[in-house]
Amino acid sequence: MAYFPSTFPAVAPTLDDRHFWELCAARRLCFQRCVNCKTFRHPPAPFCPRCQSLASDWVEAPTVATIFSFTVVYHPSHSDAISAVPYNVVLVEFESCSGVRLVSNVIDESVDALTVGARVELAWDAGTGGQWLPRFRLLRLKQT
Ligand SMILES: [Zn+2]
Repeated sequence: MAYFPSTFPAVAPTLDDRHFWELCAARRLCFQRCVNCKTFRHPPAPFCPRCQSLASDWVEAPTVATIFSFTVVYHPSHSDAISAVPYNVVLVEFESCSGVRLVSNVIDESVDALTVGARVELAWDAGTGGQWLPRFRLLRLKQT
């Protein structure tokens, strides 16, 4: 089941982030990286903020990330999210994509289970209009 109701507004790609969303449609989470100085940037932008190069490529993100920060929403900002409260909004970062922090959600979990520093695993979630959205599930250490 999708994290938000199917009536929730779809992402509207811009000229700058269109390729990011095209890759997500193929269930590939990739981040833009400067070809010249190898600095990652997200959200995507036309040039590198560090060296101003216009050349960029796309690098596949690891499937495991870490919660850098999160919040719990009790008062939805959109009427189509009323049935989803309380819901979480997380900021995750990736060990091999320095500087990238992705806004997302942790699915299939009570908001009480979230902690800063928790490890999460990529889980593609169906969005409105056939989109695929990069969301996450908590990784639990296996008991031995
Ligand atoms: Zn650069």
